Amino acid sequence: MKISKNNIVEINYTLKDNESNILDSSEGQEPLAYIHGIGNLIPGLENALEGKEKGDKIQTKIKPEDAYGVRDENLLETVSLKQFENQDDVKEGIQFQIETNDGVKMATITNISGDDVSIDMNHPLADIELNFDVEVISIREASEEELSHGHVHGAGGHHHH
Ligand code: ZN
Repeated sequence: MKISKNNIVEINYTLKDNESNILDSSEGQEPLAYIHGIGNLIPGLENALEGKEKGDKIQTKIKPEDAYGVRDENLLETVSLKQFENQDDVKEGIQFQIETNDGVKMATITNISGDDVSIDMNHPLADIELNFDVEVISIREASEEELSHGHVHGAGGHHHH
């Protein structure tokens, strides 16, 4: 069968940036299982997998627009050190979750100067072209229950029943 909407797909993958640094990989782990066509994966990867079959191997380069987005200067902010509960933990480079008007986002501390803490709420992979090597391991229909939950049950998925 060919990958189409609402199929449960298992893939092995390796993700590299344009300098061939490995950013993420399923190697040494279970394959990644996801429901195709409902936004479980970034749009560029779902598009590349559409119509593929078990055993297919693909290489695809995905632009930031179809991955984790382009950098937005509006997501750079300066906050007061006093706003942090554990001020000893506030260090350049650490990431933390922050409540915003758009919901919870990941923020990275980029600079600390006195009481001013500069934070960046862009996704760490914003602006980065992603190079995926993907192998399709299996394809099957999703169950009603999996579709209503929006995630995969069983191998490679959730175990909560
Ligand atoms: Zn479930």
